[in-house]
Amino acid sequence: MDAEFLIVGAGIAGAGLAYRLAPKGQVVILDMEAQAGYHTTGRSAAFYAETYGGPKLQPLTTASKAFFRAPPAGFTEVPLQGPLGAIHIFRPDQRAEADAALEDMKALPAVKELPADVVRARAPYLLGTEIAGGIDDPDCSNLDVAALHQGYLKAAKAHGAKVLLEAGIESARHEDGIWHVKTRTGDLTARVLINCAGAWGDDIAVRAGVRPVGLQPLRRTIVTIPNPKGLPFDRHGPVVIDVGEAFYFKPEGEGYLISPADETPSAPTDAQPEMEDIAIAVDHFERTSGATVDRLDSKWAGLRTFAPDRAPVIGFAPDQPAFFWNVGQGGYGIQTSPAWSLLAASLILGEPLPAELVAHGVKSAIYDPARFA
Ligand SMILES: Cc1cc2nc3c(=O)[nH]c(=O)nc-3n(C[C@H](O)[C@H](O)[C@H](O)COP(=O)(O)OP(=O)(O)OC[C@H]3O[C@@H](n4cnc5c(N)ncnc54)[C@H](O)[C@@H]3O)c2cc1C
Repeated sequence: MDAEFLIVGAGIAGAGLAYRLAPKGQVVILDMEAQAGYHTTGRSAAFYAETYGGPKLQPLTTASKAFFRAPPAGFTEVPLQGPLGAIHIFRPDQRAEADAALEDMKALPAVKELPADVVRARAPYLLGTEIAGGIDDPDCSNLDVAALHQGYLKAAKAHGAKVLLEAGIESARHEDGIWHVKTRTGDLTARVLINCAGAWGDDIAVRAGVRPVGLQPLRRTIVTIPNPKGLPFDRHGPVVIDVGEAFYFKPEGEGYLISPADETPSAPTDAQPEMEDIAIAVDHFERTSGATVDRLDSKWAGLRTFAPDRAPVIGFAPDQPAFFWNVGQGGYGIQTSPAWSLLAASLILGEPLPAELVAHGVKSAIYDPARFA
C-alpha cells in the first residue's frame, strides 16, 4: 500500500494534518497545483483573533494559542505570531449587535468594552464616522502563515511524508478495505482517504462515491492601500473590525490591508477580485476615515468555504468509514489549525481527545459530519 493516510489538499488543513499523522503512519499528500498553498491558504489576512468566528470556532482558536506562542523546537526559525490587537467598532445604531457580540465572547476574560474616546485614541484615523464604542481583543495577533504552513510540511516530510504536487485526484474507489485512487500523474492505494480540499471538498467526496455535505465557497476580497496623505498612521495599531463584519482594516507596511468582508457564493475556482468589491472596500475605508484613497497597492480574492451551519466538518463520513472529512475552515482555518489538526488526528487514530483540547472546551461532536446525514 502506498499510504496509510492519503491526504487530498496541501493547504493549511492538509499540511497541519500531515504534521500530526506522519509520525504515526505513512502519509502521502496530493495537491492538484504546482505550489502547496496556492489557493485559500496563500490568500488570507493572516490574523489570529479568538473573538472572530463565534462560539463554535473559539475553543479551537484558543486551544491553538500555545502552539503559536511556543511552537515545538525546530518547527520554525521565525516567530509564528506578532503583536496586533483588534477592536470591533460599533456606531450608536449597532448597540444591539455589540451586545450580542459581547455575549458570544464572554468566555474570553481579556475581552472588554471600550468607550469611544479610547477607540479613537487607539485608531486615530477613524475620523469620518460616528463611534459609540468598541470591543477590545488585546490577544489578537498577526500570524506568519507561510512559516506555519512550511513548518508543518517540513516536519511531516522529516517523518517520511511524501508531498505530490500537480497530482489532482480524478477518482477514488474503495474495494476490500483499500482505496484505489487515480491521479493525473498515476495511481495510488491507501487505507484512509482524508479530504482537505477546501472549496473542492464536496467535489472530492463525489469523486470518491461519498455523499457531499453541502459546502459553499464564499469569495472574499482584500485590497492593500498606502496611507492617504495627512491621515494619522500607526503601523502598530490594531485591526479594526466592524462589529457587524461589514469591513475590516489592518495596518500593513506603510498603509492598510482592507476588506469589504464580502461573502459572494462561488463555484470552487481560482478566485479573482471583482471591481465592485474593490470599490466597496475603498468606500468603507473612505467613509470611516474621512480620507480619499487615490491608489491601490495590490488586490486579491480567495474562497472561504463553509458547511451549511458554518461550523467545521471533522470526522469520518457516516456513509464511508474510510473517508475522513476535514473541511469547512471558513475564515478561520489558519488561526485554528494547531488545535484543529490535533483534533482531526485524534479522531483518525481513534485516540481520546487530547487534554489540551479538553481544557479549552473543544467538543468533537459538534463538528461530526453525521449531522448532515
Ligand atoms: C481573504 C481571506 C482572508 C482570510 N483571513 C484569515 C485570517 O485572517 N485568519 C484565518 O485563520 N483564516 C483566514 N482565512 C481563511 C483561511 O485562509 C482558510 O480557512 C484556510 O486557508 C483553508 O485552508 P484549506 O487547506 O482548507 O484550503 P486551501 O488552502 O484552499 O487548500 C485546499 C487544497 O486542495 C487542493 N485540491 C482541490 N481539489 C483537488 C484535487 N482534485 N486533487 C488534489 N488537490 C486538490 C487545492 O489545490 C488546494 O491547494 C481567510 C481567507 C480568505 C479568502
